[in-house]
Amino acid sequence: MIIAENLTRRGALTGVTIDIAPGETLAVVGESGSGKTALARLLLRLDRPTSGGLPADGVHGLFPDLDPRMTIADSVAEPMRVHRRHDPAWRDELLTLVGLGPGDGRRRPADLPAPELRRAALARGLALRPGVLVLDEPVADLDPSARAELTALLRAVRERLGTAYLYLTRDVADVRQLAERVAVLYRGGIVERGPAQAVFEAPAHPYTQALLSAVPVADPRRERRRRRVPLAEERPDAPAGGCRFRHRCPKFAAELTTLQRGKCSAEAPAPRPRAGGAEAACHYASVATVW
Ligand code: SF4
Repeated sequence: MIIAENLTRRGALTGVTIDIAPGETLAVVGESGSGKTALARLLLRLDRPTSGGLPADGVHGLFPDLDPRMTIADSVAEPMRVHRRHDPAWRDELLTLVGLGPGDGRRRPADLPAPELRRAALARGLALRPGVLVLDEPVADLDPSARAELTALLRAVRERLGTAYLYLTRDVADVRQLAERVAVLYRGGIVERGPAQAVFEAPAHPYTQALLSAVPVADPRRERRRRRVPLAEERPDAPAGGCRFRHRCPKFAAELTTLQRGKCSAEAPAPRPRAGGAEAACHYASVATVW
């Protein structure tokens, strides 16, 4: 199902198409400023696109901040009331589904610790039974065990309700165990996308390789032996035209011939199919092992 088609917002996103199957998790990975939040705001109709198509309905979001004056149960029920679909049985079922008890439903946000609040926000996000739930850094600011628990809960909820997730994150480690497909966003455009196995295990775009090479692995010996792909700092005066990544690209800086660099400077790379059913927008994409 296509939920965004050729979506453009001036200064933030350029021609982004997002398709997602029922019950699937698509991870959109990128640094701060890559356009993730702009994409979420457009999909949730909080902003209007400069051009491009959005779905008629069925895409909702998880908003971690609940109204401090309302009880948790009322916060979960509020979207149903607003849409005249009040259903107390479904509200209670949602609270149970996310691991909150009836006592928690009577409490207010200030009375709950952060992990439980995140569960309550998930229940509220599911209140109208959306086909797609947009999760913008849902485990950010939680400690490692709460992150793991919330990720396990997201997986269980997806299996039970068939909800698809569009999971936006800057931290690849958050989605490695959850996502079936991945799109890597850089300066408002998708530079690599495909099945999670292909993109995570054999990335072909230099930006994806740099992002993944910065994710620590648990085994200290492997960690020491790993090759880091260096990534130059973002620059506000980045050159326009051609490949928008070239001022940071390690391949452009160290591997390409003058002729090849000329092509990167002159021509914006279009997405091209590569092995494993993925595609990468790089003139000189080549698979590398980074783990
Ligand atoms: S097109 Fe050139 S500059 Fe852009 S990512 Fe590929 S190698 Fe680097």
